[in-house]
Amino acid sequence: MSARVSRLRRFQSEEHAEEQEEIACPLCGGTRSTPVMVTRDLLFAKPGHYTLVACAQCELRFVNPRPTPPSLGPHYPADYFGYSLHEDEPPLLQPFLRSIARGISLRRLKYLEAGVGRIQPGAKLLDVGCGVNRFLHSVRDQRGVEGLGLDFKPEIVSYVKDKLQMPIMQGSLGSVPLEDGRFDIVTMLEYLEHEPDPLAVLDEARRITRQGGHLALELPYLGLVSRIFGPNWWNYDIPRHLIFFTPKTLERVLARAGFELLHVEKFTLPLYIGMSVLQALGLRHWRKHRELYPVLSVVTGLPFLPFQALLPEFMFCVARAV
Ligand SMILES: [Zn+2]
Repeated sequence: MSARVSRLRRFQSEEHAEEQEEIACPLCGGTRSTPVMVTRDLLFAKPGHYTLVACAQCELRFVNPRPTPPSLGPHYPADYFGYSLHEDEPPLLQPFLRSIARGISLRRLKYLEAGVGRIQPGAKLLDVGCGVNRFLHSVRDQRGVEGLGLDFKPEIVSYVKDKLQMPIMQGSLGSVPLEDGRFDIVTMLEYLEHEPDPLAVLDEARRITRQGGHLALELPYLGLVSRIFGPNWWNYDIPRHLIFFTPKTLERVLARAGFELLHVEKFTLPLYIGMSVLQALGLRHWRKHRELYPVLSVVTGLPFLPFQALLPEFMFCVARAV
């Protein structure tokens, strides 16, 4: 896999005590940009500031400068959500969290099928950045697909292999050997925005997807909620999220990799907005309030529930390999 992002400068940031890099626009290669917002790693309360910029040429929004790939590791501690297991959560919360996770997987399946049609038994599906394989588990139960997960976190891979006994590979796209055109569907759910080199990842996704097969992406959506909450918007989650697409910039980036964008569904998760309200109220450091956070976010999210269709925070995008 070839690196596509042009790195202009690498330096040691004293403010962050981490190595950072300044990059050209990952989509068009442009080097002129305008700062949009300054924020911090709010989730883990780390020192230092990050700037979100908008490319002057193509409008792509990305964090610049940003941690180098090795410096990103400390921003993903073991208790980061993507890796959390329900059995490690407080017992009273477990049924609530399981039901939310199941709802999320079934919604994803619905949006996926809105783009690709009903998935046939035996379809070959790869979920990149699969975490503990919740989505593949649901799709296997519902449709009988042959799913394979891919995740770079060794502890998660062992858990899925040994405890769940589901197929998974350890690594990232480009670092594991997968044959050309092997998959009918490749999914990247809340994944691409974390990738330092999204074009290279999409190229590799195209190589392993059969012609006429599909790619599904779930991404943050910069809409009204992001403007209302600014840096306190929960879905900014900088610097774990490095790049923010719009349907327009996504269409361009997909076309360069050999995908045609078919379908974009904008949506939010019920009560998700409550997390942004909590951040805006100054209740950060969710670790300290771990047990309270889900309950409080339900309370603060409730007033928005009747309007959720007007307040999308994610987009689910389906593209065809051409
Ligand atoms: Zn650009």
